[in-house]
Amino acid sequence: NLVSFSANVPGANSEARQSFLMKRMTIEGALHKALERSEFFLDYQPIGDPAAGRIVAVEALIRWRRCNGEIVRPDEFIPVAEEAGLISHIDEWVVRRACADLAAMHRAGLTDLRVSVNMAAPEFMRQTLPADLLAVTRAAGIEPEHLCLELTERMMMTQADTIIPVMHALRRQGFRISLDDFGTGYSSLARLKILPITSVKIDRSFIRGLPGDMHDRAIVRAMLELASDMRLAIVAEGVETLEQMEALAELGDPLIQGYLLGKPASPEQIVSAYSRRAWQPQVSAIA
Ligand code: C2E
Ligand code: MG
Ligand code: MG
Ligand code: MG
Repeated sequence: NLVSFSANVPGANSEARQSFLMKRMTIEGALHKALERSEFFLDYQPIGDPAAGRIVAVEALIRWRRCNGEIVRPDEFIPVAEEAGLISHIDEWVVRRACADLAAMHRAGLTDLRVSVNMAAPEFMRQTLPADLLAVTRAAGIEPEHLCLELTERMMMTQADTIIPVMHALRRQGFRISLDDFGTGYSSLARLKILPITSVKIDRSFIRGLPGDMHDRAIVRAMLELASDMRLAIVAEGVETLEQMEALAELGDPLIQGYLLGKPASPEQIVSAYSRRAWQPQVSAIA
């Protein structure tokens, strides 16, 4: 993320660069205060099992409501938070909030639902992460198996030597780990087998071309075959149409996430849209 963010910096001395830097400094200053003022909130997007017609998990996605009411999406401020060294504070807030919300969703009838949380590399480099997360899940009253940590392929590869041992320790405690945006990084498929992960999320850029694009079909089929050989669960991201879902069912029947199933929504909306986790794929539950 840091790399792609820096790559976006407009050329030196240009007016564009000046206003870019101004904007970043403004966001950075405001981010410092955002945690204290509780300006962050989480939306949850369902992950479903089409064969069973049920949702199995929700992914927590952070949003920032600024004091002027504007809602800022994570792609705009997460890279800044990473550069400013604030990402760990944010990720720690997210995981506590998500575990508390999951416990409430369990009590509201969505029993056994799991929650996925996105984590940046600095969190995954901390030796104390497994113990800290155990304390968080215990306090919330959920099991480690209910919490899945999503880590992008790109982040993993930059600090693999430090991160992989922490991943093993997390697995020993029962936490799930998912490799996010799979296919967009530089790792080879072969590397997958040395990673202590429980699932892989196929990036939505490969789903977009389904069902028509022959290349996307071939890539997705290969990914699904490999994941199932390795006994990894697989989630297809960004599924927007019934045709895409049907193509996926034919190619290997992964779990799906995307606007077809539901857009990110509040815990209350999740509870009322998916009572007892049932889901009707023909109608998008949340518009
Ligand atoms: P991600 O983890 O790959 O999350 C999926 C993103 O795709 C979300 O965008 C979601 O709203 C969007 N999406 C889901 N279904 C569809 C679809 O059918 N079509 C399209 N066009 N888009 C879809 P969002 O919420 O803007 O999040 C962007 C990224 O920000 C996330 O990508 C994740 O990498 C990062 N992020 C989000 N929350 C957190 C957080 O709490 N901590 C950290 N470190 N990163 C976060
Ligand atoms: Mg994710
Ligand atoms: Mg993703
Ligand atoms: Mg993504």
